[in-house]
Amino acid sequence: MKFIVATRNYKKLKELSRILKPLGIEAVTDAELGIKLCEVEETGSTFEENAFLKAAAACRQAGIPAIADDSGLEVDALGGAPGVHSARYAGENASDADRNLKLLAEMAHLPEDERTARFVSAICCVFPNGDLVSARGECRGKIGYEPIGDNGFGYDPLFIVSSGLSYAQLSADEKDVISHRGNALRLFAVNLQRYLETKKDSTEFY
Ligand code: IMP
Repeated sequence: MKFIVATRNYKKLKELSRILKPLGIEAVTDAELGIKLCEVEETGSTFEENAFLKAAAACRQAGIPAIADDSGLEVDALGGAPGVHSARYAGENASDADRNLKLLAEMAHLPEDERTARFVSAICCVFPNGDLVSARGECRGKIGYEPIGDNGFGYDPLFIVSSGLSYAQLSADEKDVISHRGNALRLFAVNLQRYLETKKDSTEFY
């Protein structure tokens, strides 16, 4: 059974492939199906809505089950910002370093106990019959005062987890164990397996 993954991020495709394989599902891209997914405007006000919008559009276009995700950072003292705007927080063409500098500037006045934050990841799978399987994962932490560590991407160097290390000081495997995306993927695998169990005698979404 093939599921299309609505991402151009090779690392996300690999992560999803790894968790889908034991369920007998092959994760494929639009290119592998010989199509090109349309860009979907992320107009949702939650990560869940955006993941759904992307998955629903891909499912409609490809005609097979489609998986999409959306993720970002929510800082409590900033009312949840950058939130769904995490990727564009410092404007369209800004770099990870620009976004990190902007976040540090916005939080410059905040003492340690007001620097709490969480990363959130939402994953959604839409089936051609309209069924949905979704999962949400979170990781709580604090925003540091300067970037620390060289691994990872995005806001990783600013996000301090309970061990006192930043996401960017963890190896990929160490980050997986505690990360928002790791938590969402593990729950998604459980939810999808449950759903497939209920459908095992049916071929309606093949
Ligand atoms: P997307 O879900 O891949 O579109 O990610 C949205 C944005 O959230 C990214 O551009 C990053 O800025 C941020 N982000 C999401 N996950 C992570 C992470 O694991 N580490 C650092 N930044 C992340």
